[in-house]
Formats: sequence, C-alpha cells, structure tokens
Amino acid sequence: MHEMSIAASLIDIVKEEMAKHGATRLLMVRVRYGRLTNIVPEALQMGFEATCLEAGIKDARLELEEVPLTVACGGCGETFTPEHEDILYMPCPRCGREFAHEVLTGRELFVDHIEAE
Ligand SMILES: [Zn+2]
Repeated sequence: MHEMSIAASLIDIVKEEMAKHGATRLLMVRVRYGRLTNIVPEALQMGFEATCLEAGIKDARLELEEVPLTVACGGCGETFTPEHEDILYMPCPRCGREFAHEVLTGRELFVDHIEAE
C-alpha cells in the first residue's frame, strides 16, 4: 500500500516546514491529490494517523482535496474532464477523438497548506 510511504514523506515535509518556522505543534495539513494518483483517501488517512503516532504528533488533522482529471484533446485542443475514469477511453466532446490527449491536471500530489503553532 503506497499510502504509507506517501504519509511518511508527507510528515517529513511537514516537519521540515515546521522547523523552518519554529512551530512545534501540528494542527492541520491539507493535501491536494489528482485523480490519476490512485490514492485511496481512507488509506492515506490511516497512514497519516499511524505516522503521526510514530512521530509523536498528536491531534493533527489531514484534509484531502481531490483534483479532477482534465485533458486537452490531441485532435482539436478542446479541454475537458472525461466522464469516465478510464484513462484509455476518453472521447473528446467536440471531435470525438478517443486517445492521445494531453493530461493537464490529475497527476498532482502536494502539500497545499500546513497549520501549526
Ligand atoms: Zn477534440
């Protein structure tokens, strides 16, 4: 389950940021993740809690925000969000082209916000 290692690097980033700002108590972390990262939010929450426990962090919240998938059509350039989750079948609403689209959003995974004191 790759959420455990994501949670571990997440906490590493948070610790680094907190050290930079002299903060000692973590309150909240917000992470934005794209549709295509295959992250299971529940698994990441569990991984986050387990990692916090190990790191001695108490009562910190993890907020997860999903970034939808958007692509630009390889044929006509139309930007759209596919109706289906299937990355291999995404017909363009304008010209009907089904493949070779450019993925614009949906692959991101980053710490959006940290609240600490
Ligand atoms: Zn098109």
